[in-house]
Amino acid sequence: MAYVINDECINCGACVAGCPTEAISEGDVHMEINADTCIDCGACADVCPVGAPKAE
Ligand code: SF4
Ligand code: SF4
Repeated sequence: MAYVINDECINCGACVAGCPTEAISEGDVHMEINADTCIDCGACADVCPVGAPKAE
């Protein structure tokens, strides 16, 4: 289980600082979550202004 950032992401960067495991980094098109280090805490979804991170 991990969160995934969808195409709604506007690359604001708010989720990056809030991730406790530093699992979020810049991807080719938008921010991406490393499924190996994401602990499914939901913090990124809480701070995201557009609801782009979704639990898979
Ligand atoms: Fe980071 Fe938590 Fe979001 Fe996973 S769910 S990417 S651990 S903030
Ligand atoms: Fe993208 Fe949301 Fe993260 Fe901003 S907070 S970079 S819109 S996923």
